[in-house]
Amino acid sequence: MPALVYALGEGGRKLPPAKIRDGMLAAAAVGYLCKHHATLSAAEGGCQAEIGVASAMAAALVATAHDAEPRVVENAAESALEHHLGMTCDPVAGYVQIPCIERCAFGAVKAWTAYAIASNEVAASHRVSLDQTILALAETARDMNSKYKETSEAGLALSVTLC
Ligand code: SF4
Repeated sequence: MPALVYALGEGGRKLPPAKIRDGMLAAAAVGYLCKHHATLSAAEGGCQAEIGVASAMAAALVATAHDAEPRVVENAAESALEHHLGMTCDPVAGYVQIPCIERCAFGAVKAWTAYAIASNEVAASHRVSLDQTILALAETARDMNSKYKETSEAGLALSVTLC
C-alpha cells in the first residue's frame, strides 16, 4: 500500500491527493470485507490473508485512483487476492524479513497488474466475484495445516538454514 500510494503520487503518476484518498477508502472497504468474512491474520490464514489481502486492497486503491468504475475496482481486487490464495506463512528463522519483504514487493506488482487486467477486460464478463474469492480465502484458511500459519514449522522457515 505505501509503495503504491507513493507511485500514484509524488513518486510517479502525480495524481491529485484527493484521488489517492478516494483510493485508500476503497482499499479500506476491501480490507473490511476480507476481515469481516475471512481473516487478515497470518496466524489464522497464512500469508494469503496478510500479503494477499494487502495486495487486493492496493489493487482497489490503484483502480479507484484512476477513476475506474466500481465493477473494475472489484475485479482488480478480486484478481489480486485470487492469485495469493493458498500462500503460506514461512518466515525464515521466524523473522518477518524473508520472504516477507520481497512478498510485499510482489504483492504491489500483482496489485498493479490486477488493475491493468481489470481495466482492459469486459468488466461484466469477469467470471469470479470478490465475494467468492473472499469465501475461498476463509475456507482455505480453515483447511490450512497449522504448520503454515506463522508458526515457522514448515516451508522456507524449515528448509533454509541460517548459520
Ligand atoms: S510470510 Fe512474512 S509477510 Fe507473509 S504472513 Fe508470514 S510473516 Fe507475514
